[in-house]
Amino acid sequence: MSNLPENMVQLGSRRNIMREIREYGLIRAREVGAENVLDFSLGNPSVPPPPQVNDTIRAILDSPQGDSIHAYTTAQGDLAVRESLAASLTRRFGMHYGPDDLYITVGAAAGLCCCFRALACPGDEFVLMAPYFTEYDIFVRGNGGIPVVVPPDYDTFQPDMKALEAAIGPKTKALVVNSPNNPSGAIYSAETLTAMADLLRRKAAEYGHPIYLISDEPYREIVFQGFTVPWIPNFYDDTLVCYSYSKSISLPGERIGYVLVGEKVAEHKAVYAAICGAGRVLGYVNAPSLFQRVAAACDGLTSDLSIYQTNRDLLYNGLTSMGYTCVEPGGTFYLLLKSPVPDANEFCKRAQAYDLLFPPTDDFACPGWCRIAFCTTTEQVQKALPIFKKLAEEYGL
Ligand code: PLP
Repeated sequence: MSNLPENMVQLGSRRNIMREIREYGLIRAREVGAENVLDFSLGNPSVPPPPQVNDTIRAILDSPQGDSIHAYTTAQGDLAVRESLAASLTRRFGMHYGPDDLYITVGAAAGLCCCFRALACPGDEFVLMAPYFTEYDIFVRGNGGIPVVVPPDYDTFQPDMKALEAAIGPKTKALVVNSPNNPSGAIYSAETLTAMADLLRRKAAEYGHPIYLISDEPYREIVFQGFTVPWIPNFYDDTLVCYSYSKSISLPGERIGYVLVGEKVAEHKAVYAAICGAGRVLGYVNAPSLFQRVAAACDGLTSDLSIYQTNRDLLYNGLTSMGYTCVEPGGTFYLLLKSPVPDANEFCKRAQAYDLLFPPTDDFACPGWCRIAFCTTTEQVQKALPIFKKLAEEYGL
């Protein structure tokens, strides 16, 4: 019998489904050749970062201050970095932000954990809008909160407002929103956000305490033609924004992002201090120093998104014309496809027999659907379509 917390051992032993599929794909690639495995499992950007990323790194390393870049920064992030980011956000979103509104993080994952840890008092509930990024449940529980899950409207993948209203109670501390959404690609419309903000204000007044909205936005700039992403703090003052440079400028391994706590947020100073405190408790010390500077120099830039647009168009048009039900992605690089059979695990296994790999979304609180991560080459998408066609015929679509 081990004398260790069982939940930790379990969390570390059971990989998440995407990584399990990815590892299976690597094994298959050795057996049949990488070109014969069509892996749509992971959200690892397939396009390189914009050239400004490496230019910035070279310029910093070659500058007279190059050696000192590896030193600790202040815990909340280098002041010049926060000033530069605050100015960029003020310019881009038309609301005033200052350096003391920003806490630089080790990606969005760390930002989310800091927010949950900062806000959770014993018994506090965090409302998660399904479908949601698999780690939310772990992050909330691991940081002292209780997750409460709200299903979407399955026709639009906007929130089911009645279900949301029913989920909010006196113990609700925050609502977590991710738009553009992983795994659905849906973007919450201005109409949705207006209704959501009205509801939160009404409930906060009824229960006599703020209800925060935590907006997880790693896909904010990955948006397809004809779609826009509303700036959520414009709709609801008590919004904490968790951002990451992992997807927009293809830096997932470098671990850099921020939490933005605008001055209109209720108990702004205390919330910001609690986020800094959570970062201390979690041992983050400071976000990677070199990439803090990269973030400051590259905020608002994107990698070349045209490949995602091409892949998205090919997949969405191709799959719907074969008879599949899909959510039209407004952003991200994911497409949510309805399994032709109730158990999406069965459908994914059948596809796996053709070395076409993608996960069911049961762990995203969305059983019966599958997520296709199209941050791949266009050639892979082109090779996958005839296999989807074969599967469509096998399932009689
Ligand atoms: N939130 C969502 C919705 C994600 O999809 C991801 C990563 O895939 C994260 C957060 C974590 O991102 P990061 O790499 O910035 O920690």
